[in-house]
Amino acid sequence: MYNLIMFGPPGAGKGTQAKIISKQFGIPAISTGEMIRAAIKASTPMGLAAKSYTESGSLVPDEVVIGIIKERLTEDDCKNGFILDGFPRTIPQAEALASMGVEITKVISFEVSDKAIVDRMSGRRLCSACSASYHTVYAPSAEEGKCDACGSELIIRKDDRKDVVESRLLTYHRETEPLKEFYSKLNLLVVVDGEGTVEDVSKRALEALGVVLHNV
Ligand code: ADP
Ligand code: AMP
Repeated sequence: MYNLIMFGPPGAGKGTQAKIISKQFGIPAISTGEMIRAAIKASTPMGLAAKSYTESGSLVPDEVVIGIIKERLTEDDCKNGFILDGFPRTIPQAEALASMGVEITKVISFEVSDKAIVDRMSGRRLCSACSASYHTVYAPSAEEGKCDACGSELIIRKDDRKDVVESRLLTYHRETEPLKEFYSKLNLLVVVDGEGTVEDVSKRALEALGVVLHNV
């Protein structure tokens, strides 16, 4: 059973790799960012509370995201494992996860330079209806501006604007990067080179998990 954490800076490819590993292992990919964006879209009380943090590139308060994850991990589809994408992002979140009694198998840290991240986030496009993710250059949709999966319009995330990206990177280095030491001390951290094609990175990630590859 795999209880995995996809770790790395915003735009490192965590969501992309989480979806690939999710298919490969048949376990859910759980993205706190996606859950927060859905709550904002639906104007739920949590969404309304989170909106200003997310759109300015800050982290949503720990107690809010910890609550979301605690509830999500009790759902039935998590009983054979799960992949966390974007959680934990602070030491208190990692401590809260440990106190939920879940045993983490591995934390895969995708190493990508700040320069490549800016490049990835500036080209990221998101389906306005089904949240499928694209990149104008590296993962383009078949028809420009339209989702391959459902045909809806592709949009640019508000927090992928250049000024917000800079602030998200600062937040990452200040608040999230210290988790590498936290998980390294627990012998759970595996570092994977996150540069190169999506396929190259998948191969490295799955190899780091000890999976023998035939046709990924
Ligand atoms: P994260 O979940 O870490 O924020 P994403 O998976 O959304 O990152 O990836 C950010 C952007 O970079 C997306 O537009 C995605 O299509 C693109 N991308 C992901 N992995 C790669 C890669 N290995 N090479 C080039 N672009 C990539
Ligand atoms: P992501 O889709 O992972 O890039 O997350 C988008 C935004 O959602 C982040 O910039 C934060 O504002 C918020 N968010 C997602 N996950 C967390 C988390 N674990 N802790 C705090 N804020 C989060």
